[in-house]
Amino acid sequence: MAKVCLCLTGRTILKDLELVDRYRPYIDVAELRVDFLDPDERFYIRRFPALAGIPTILTVRRKIDGGHFIEGEGARIVLLAAGLAFADTDRRRNFAYVDLEEDLDVPSLEEAARTFGTKIIRSYHNFNGVDANLEQKLWNLRRTGDEIAKVAVMPKNYDDVARLYKVGEATKDMDKILIAMGPLGANTRILAERLGSHLTFTSPLAGEAGDADIQVAGPGQLDPKTLVDTYRFRSLTKDTKVFGIIGYPLTATSSPQIHNKGYSQLKMDGVYIPFTVENLPDFFSLADTLQIQGLSVTIPHKEGVLPYCSQRSPEVDRIGSCNTLVRTSQGWAGYNTDARGFSDSLLTFIGKQNLWYKRVTIIGAGGVAKAVAHEIHRLKGRALIINRTPLRAKEIAEPLNFAWAGLDARGIELIDHYRDIIIQTTSVGMEPNIDEDPIELYKFRGKEVVMDLIYKPEETKLLKRAARAGCKTLNGYDMLLRQAKLQFALFTGQEYPD
Ligand code: NAP
Repeated sequence: MAKVCLCLTGRTILKDLELVDRYRPYIDVAELRVDFLDPDERFYIRRFPALAGIPTILTVRRKIDGGHFIEGEGARIVLLAAGLAFADTDRRRNFAYVDLEEDLDVPSLEEAARTFGTKIIRSYHNFNGVDANLEQKLWNLRRTGDEIAKVAVMPKNYDDVARLYKVGEATKDMDKILIAMGPLGANTRILAERLGSHLTFTSPLAGEAGDADIQVAGPGQLDPKTLVDTYRFRSLTKDTKVFGIIGYPLTATSSPQIHNKGYSQLKMDGVYIPFTVENLPDFFSLADTLQIQGLSVTIPHKEGVLPYCSQRSPEVDRIGSCNTLVRTSQGWAGYNTDARGFSDSLLTFIGKQNLWYKRVTIIGAGGVAKAVAHEIHRLKGRALIINRTPLRAKEIAEPLNFAWAGLDARGIELIDHYRDIIIQTTSVGMEPNIDEDPIELYKFRGKEVVMDLIYKPEETKLLKRAARAGCKTLNGYDMLLRQAKLQFALFTGQEYPD
């Protein structure tokens, strides 16, 4: 089973030992990155494996390979030798692995490693792309059959990532580590077992208290707790069914927590992974390679995925936006669960079955506003749509016989005629821009029901202002949960567990 390795990027041995202790329940291996240590700390590296009490990789990474070591090659070899020298007869006190780059040719180091039971990881990094002959590269890396070949490459698109999985399959009997770096490769860190990797690298969670100087060692690495708890790394197999979410930039999504918890509670062999997708077309080749079974779709792709749907639900046809794709034998089937997620959340909150006689303001005219507007129309409410780009408000409003305006002084004035319920659907006020409020000039009377579809932060500036004026307020988390549960049922054929 693929192991979890924590890259230690502290400046002192003490800090690295503290990090090992913090993540001990989640990790199998630690990598001592000597290149991150202060120079006088390097004297103590030989004692590290015994102090850490965990199998440890000895690595001194050069700048050209993505590390920090800038002194000469001689100094690096001395450090590696110092780490391996005077090895203990008790092998648990030696480094379990040593990372030697493909171009490092020092037979005495290899000899020392073999004598004292230290496994050699023969590594190759390419920060500029994915080699055309990746499989051959992997085969050629190992100098003897007992070495582990490690290849870390930087994909430029998802076709590159798909190639990595194919190479993983073609070399399934080889002891190796295959990594696609950067945001496009985050999935390869979770699906290490599927790639046939010996281990996956993780980093301490950036920004934790007292860790100001701790850095993420490799671009795209997760922290061990998230990998094990959220992504259920230890229970993933080669055959785990893959689901996920596609969007861009996809910085603040809670969907992986919700879906993965569902698989865990139902003991299903599934995993839900975020895929940062800027260009849709190249993603679908990876979706086929991984046989992804279901996808949540978010900003900005809810309309862009429509041409990929071989079937569409009546909601998708009505609204013209799709947030759920399910793999079928005929291709992707498209659904929209935002619509029901929204209306179930709002109706439950106000304790009603419909919106008869309700006058509603919708702020925004993006993908989700479309679903909101159609639901308000279905539930017999009357609405005003105001948006920064007035034409987009018009496009949604006119077919539904709703009023529309710009997000300006006139639009704000019109809210007075549509203020039973105010629904905020723009991204204004979302983390990290929590000081923004899209209707700053509007004065709440205290009678309005105000729903903001944003759920990070929990209470936006707009909701705070509304609550202070006495309004009933609701954020977007309940909607998110409801739409995710509907997706879960479409993906798996099972109800989301209570
Ligand atoms: P979208 O299609 O990209 O639409 C974005 C909307 O925000 C547009 O109306 C856009 O106006 C407006 N906007 C963006 N920046 C603005 C600014 N600086 N000033 C004024 N207006 C601005 O995105 P979406 O899919 O509709 O999602 C919008 C929000 O809803 C996001 O915050 C998302 O997290 C949230 N959401 C929540 C849930 C949930 O389950 N709770 C589900 C889906 C979405 P223009 O038309 O002028 O560009």
